[in-house]
Amino acid sequence: MNHIAPPAIPFLDLAAQQARLGPALRARIDAVLAHGQYILGPEVTELENRLAAFCGAAHCVSVSSGTDALQIAMMAEGIGRGDAVFLPAFTYTATAEVPLLLGATPVFVDVDPATYQIDPASLQARIDQIKQQGALRPRAVIGVDLFGQPAPWAALRAIAAAEGLFTLDDCAQAFGAELAGRRLGAEADCTATSFFPSKPLGGYGDGGALFTESPERAALYRSLRTHGEGTTRYEVLRIGMNGRLDTLQAAILLSKLDVFEAELSIRDRIAGIYDAHLAGIVTIPARVAASQSAWAIYAILLPEPAARDHVQAALRAQNIASAVYYPRPLHLQPAYAGAHDNTALPVSEQLATRIMALPIHPDLSDAQAARIAACVADAVSAYAAR
Ligand SMILES: *Cc1c(COP(=O)(O)O)cnc(C)c1O
Repeated sequence: MNHIAPPAIPFLDLAAQQARLGPALRARIDAVLAHGQYILGPEVTELENRLAAFCGAAHCVSVSSGTDALQIAMMAEGIGRGDAVFLPAFTYTATAEVPLLLGATPVFVDVDPATYQIDPASLQARIDQIKQQGALRPRAVIGVDLFGQPAPWAALRAIAAAEGLFTLDDCAQAFGAELAGRRLGAEADCTATSFFPSKPLGGYGDGGALFTESPERAALYRSLRTHGEGTTRYEVLRIGMNGRLDTLQAAILLSKLDVFEAELSIRDRIAGIYDAHLAGIVTIPARVAASQSAWAIYAILLPEPAARDHVQAALRAQNIASAVYYPRPLHLQPAYAGAHDNTALPVSEQLATRIMALPIHPDLSDAQAARIAACVADAVSAYAAR
């Protein structure tokens, strides 16, 4: 018998994207090779201007990664020892590692069971708890726009205003997303994003950016990304870091920015196909009100952990990639054991055991999305009938 395996569907297909970008990408790279200004060359400024215009922020400062963006944002506020930084437990480790690196204490907050975004009620409870204990000073809240959807910014701003907290938007997964008709970039005192290759606007290497409405903050970010320099190169005003975005990476991102809106709408169409095939079969992503997702991740929720294992195995057997974001909430990770106060965060703990992500990217065809959804649906009914 002649068994032909179905073609593999990868989680991400950057080779197809590169082919689609074509000679425009090469021309951008060649221009940098020709002028040779590899550090803070003209493409860096061009990219910053275009990114700020794209999301409607007053200032954009590009940096070396999303993690460095978070670090520079917190260094600029002088966040450190004795400070409590509130952030969701259900996120990538970078969100929590930066406050710890600066000597501050991450305080993990639970997430909303429907949207998986940071839960304002849990945030208020954790702030009250920290104030009552009296050992740490509530200082900042990091809202993560998880999976491409906006965090509940109106509620976070209201709590932050009442408590005197700095607001930082970890928008690594959601550049291009919209809330109440405007792109993310000015919801918080500072917005940090990432151009890691798998993010909605991904480069071909590491990169990130900071957005702010404050000219003072923007100037601080520029100083901090270049070793704390002042108005001349050899005037050192503060301790900074080497946190610049490479000119070559800026050139690549400029080429990708040309097709970004089109890519966002393809991601949204793929999400619609998944929704149509999977509603009522698994828990499909609940939409944050008045928002448009950037669809970094399309996550489904299975009824129990064994069902997830079963569905992932069925996809694997069909050569279809899937992933789990996140298999463990941060407060239960060994690295954060010493920083966490043992408060249970039940929604995050439950989600980690039952959530999984399906491929979603601009080079996935509608037919491939339908094939993936059919495979998930078949696996769910096979699991129910076992
Ligand atoms: C990817 C990511 C980061 C870190 O971005 P890098 O560019 O990889 O440093 C931070 N926070 C979240 C939520 C992320 O998904």
